[in-house]
Amino acid sequence: MKKLVLLLSLLIVAVSATAQDYFLKRYTPFQANISTPEAFLGYGIGEQHTRHDLIVAYLSSVAQQSERAKLIEYGRTHEGRKLVMLVVSTPDNLARLDEIQSEHLKSIDPSNSSQTDTQLPLIINLAYNVHGNEPSSSEAALLAAYTLAASDHAEVQDYLKNAVIFIDPTINPDGRDRHTYWANMYKASPLVADPQDAEHNEYWPGGRTNHYWFDLNRDWILAVNPESQGKLNWYHQWYPNVVTDFHEMGTQSTYFFEPMKTNGSLDPIMPKENYEDLNEMFGGYFSKALDSIGSFYFSREVFDGTYPGYGSSYPDLQGGLGLLFEQASSRGLKQTTAFGEITFAFTIRNQFVSSMATLKAATENKAFMRNYQRDFFKSALSRAAKNPVKAYAFSEPDRNKAKAFLTLMERHQGSGTQRR
Ligand SMILES: [Zn+2]
Repeated sequence: MKKLVLLLSLLIVAVSATAQDYFLKRYTPFQANISTPEAFLGYGIGEQHTRHDLIVAYLSSVAQQSERAKLIEYGRTHEGRKLVMLVVSTPDNLARLDEIQSEHLKSIDPSNSSQTDTQLPLIINLAYNVHGNEPSSSEAALLAAYTLAASDHAEVQDYLKNAVIFIDPTINPDGRDRHTYWANMYKASPLVADPQDAEHNEYWPGGRTNHYWFDLNRDWILAVNPESQGKLNWYHQWYPNVVTDFHEMGTQSTYFFEPMKTNGSLDPIMPKENYEDLNEMFGGYFSKALDSIGSFYFSREVFDGTYPGYGSSYPDLQGGLGLLFEQASSRGLKQTTAFGEITFAFTIRNQFVSSMATLKAATENKAFMRNYQRDFFKSALSRAAKNPVKAYAFSEPDRNKAKAFLTLMERHQGSGTQRR
């Protein structure tokens, strides 16, 4: 009997080691005192959809166990769920976070003529799951949090030294949990891959939107929801150099990263370096990373980045680089496609690998990213100086409307707005 128990437990260890290896092997060794997502949740990543309260609980346990991480709360959703970010960097950087913040803001201030300190860590926002029923990305956020907090791999050490990373695991927790409950409720044993199965077909309204069925990936400019208001408030305290925006698309596809289609998706007020230098440079890193795990992908053919209320466009308009990713959705735990079966774990791995490639691309080009953001704000002023329009005046007899307009301007830090 004892032998059987030993054999069984060895088998369980072997199985979980394989499940971990699927995602994490590249970043060994890991510190033993920090819980893996699997040990904390009681199931392997990709075997279940993780509720938002468990995501918050895991990140807060990482913050307690690791001296590289701390948890901040930036708001609450309509349904009272916490909006959080795990801030990860070296212990030294975390200890001087206020100083890094003020140096960073000084470096992008066009009125500051002193030399940019290109050695200052970058500010990177790994943000996930704005559409609640595109579930792979929040699971990838847990893997990214664990890897950055626990891995002693040399590359991870470089990322931590050269960046302060804000992991926002769930931009839309209310929508995510609607989908999470749906998918877990209809999960069957054995798993069902039939696309017609209930697990893959939520009832309307589904989990894409927030509590009021508002698409938060349109709200960055309108900012009528607490999720976006909290995020914008944080945004204008930090002006990140890079911001990710992870999505899912139709099941019969592969993986998409920027550049987007050039025909009709170029914003005329954007410096061409955003499209020509940054997107090209990052794209090279993404294709290499996805090649290393044998995943298919494409770029350039689709998607549009001109609407400023997208999570991948707003950062571009603030001197950073916004990055859209789209993974073919398994929706449930696995699904039959025209090309075979797609599993939840496979979709999570692509998002995780692209998250880590984002950190690699940014930190290996730190000086370039810093100079780009400084020049962005400088060139905005020099272009404005050449423009014959110097200001817009408006008059609105309805004081509530005028107030709403001014509040909106202030949410975006419209520094030139004056009340008369
Ligand atoms: Zn989406």
